[in-house]
Amino acid sequence: MDPSARMAGNDRAAADVVVIGAGTAGLVAAIRLSQGGLRVRVVAAGHGCLVLAPGVIDVLGYAPERVADPARALAPFVAAHPDHPYARVGPDGLDRALAWFRETVAPLGYVGALRHNRLLLTALGGLRPSCLVPQTMAAGDLSQGGPVLVVGFHGLRDFSPALVAANLCAVVPAPGTGVAARAATLEWPGPSGDGRPLTLARRLEDRSLRAAVGRDLRTVLGDEPRVGMPAVLGVDRWQEVWEEMQLVAGRPIFEIPLVPPSIPGLRLFDLLRRVLRAAGGRLQVGAPVTGVRHRNGRVEAVTVARTPREQVIDTRWVVLATGGVGGGGLQVDPDGTVREPTLGLPVHGVPVPGHPRVLPDPFASHPLDRAGLAVDEAWRPVDRSGRVVALNLHAAGAALTGCEPWREKSGEGISIATGYLAASAILEEAG
Ligand SMILES: Cc1cc2nc3c(=O)[nH]c(=O)nc-3n(C[C@H](O)[C@H](O)[C@H](O)COP(=O)(O)OP(=O)(O)OC[C@H]3O[C@@H](n4cnc5c(N)ncnc54)[C@H](O)[C@@H]3O)c2cc1C
Repeated sequence: MDPSARMAGNDRAAADVVVIGAGTAGLVAAIRLSQGGLRVRVVAAGHGCLVLAPGVIDVLGYAPERVADPARALAPFVAAHPDHPYARVGPDGLDRALAWFRETVAPLGYVGALRHNRLLLTALGGLRPSCLVPQTMAAGDLSQGGPVLVVGFHGLRDFSPALVAANLCAVVPAPGTGVAARAATLEWPGPSGDGRPLTLARRLEDRSLRAAVGRDLRTVLGDEPRVGMPAVLGVDRWQEVWEEMQLVAGRPIFEIPLVPPSIPGLRLFDLLRRVLRAAGGRLQVGAPVTGVRHRNGRVEAVTVARTPREQVIDTRWVVLATGGVGGGGLQVDPDGTVREPTLGLPVHGVPVPGHPRVLPDPFASHPLDRAGLAVDEAWRPVDRSGRVVALNLHAAGAALTGCEPWREKSGEGISIATGYLAASAILEEAG
């Protein structure tokens, strides 16, 4: 450590780029920058939404009606929402970002195309659109309906195969189609458990416990050409578990995402972290950023709260990927003020004074949901007159203005595309 820094009461480090946030946007940006040869350090207060979200890549699910073909829906969608991040991303940017992402996470075998939203089964027996899915969910596209066997486990929390099958039978995926669903329940493997999906997923990684589950599964199989199971088919050794269960079943098995925390989300987070490290990037979790130091219109250092002393990271570029309200990247005060709490950046899209805080219809779109950071063509936050805040400060992900990731089912698509493109802008400047 630099002795002068110790005297000044802080730890000093240096990086070419500091990425703030370890959600999808931050990890995507960090990996791309590391692959481009820059020294990258990710500093994050926590793990972000990745480990909570279902591990699928939603690009555009609702606009506002259910979208069947995101590639086709994109142009009219951005024409109606000119401030949406996709308006700046563009179809070519989205294509490039998603192609890069699929290659980067190749071990998880994501399948899908921008031209087709799959209809995935939810843990309540509904259907929801999604664009790219890990291979363990690939056989779960129910957009054409058909017979399905839904298999659960006795004692597994928050997943009732009988409820899923009953609700699914009432669903019409497309005119003239329907789903004939049947439910079956297997014994919890091994000594009775705590009912947690993660416990079950670990148990299934044990060969002998899995063999017992396989024997049980054989007894409930019928004529259905595919089987849906809760997303608990292994954590680290998911491939082995999933493949073996399919061999036993003699037909495709697809995973059904459960309520958070999400095992497919954990698998994705873990893979992105490993890819980042392999590319030379560093990740510090439990490291909240408290501010930055500016010089000549640029950020020259990022400060991180650490015990026993503050850490100062000298840097050439910063990517802010702190997420929306859920990730801590935006804060809504009791009086309705929306703030960007980490760096105090200007927030755009805030409702005009006097706009009701709560709408009569709780499900209606509220302008507050679209508040966030506005950026220039190089993904740099701008103030209300359009001036760049700092020449080397870029932003990506759910912190951006103009989008409603939850309502649109666009969260991971926005984070991947904007993280990738913010990194591209830095790599271009770095030459
Ligand atoms: C339970 C759940 C389910 C979801 N399901 C869907 C879905 O089905 N479809 C969909 O489209 N979207 C869904 N989303 C939303 C989607 O996951 C997010 O829109 C997207 O992942 C946001 O990614 P992000 O990288 O921008 O931010 P986040 O994932 O929120 O990450 C923000 C990161 O910034 C860090 N951070 C914040 N402030 C600081 C600070 N001061 N210093 C250091 N680090 C900081 C956080 O700790 C975190 O690491 C879901 C989200 C959740 C929570």
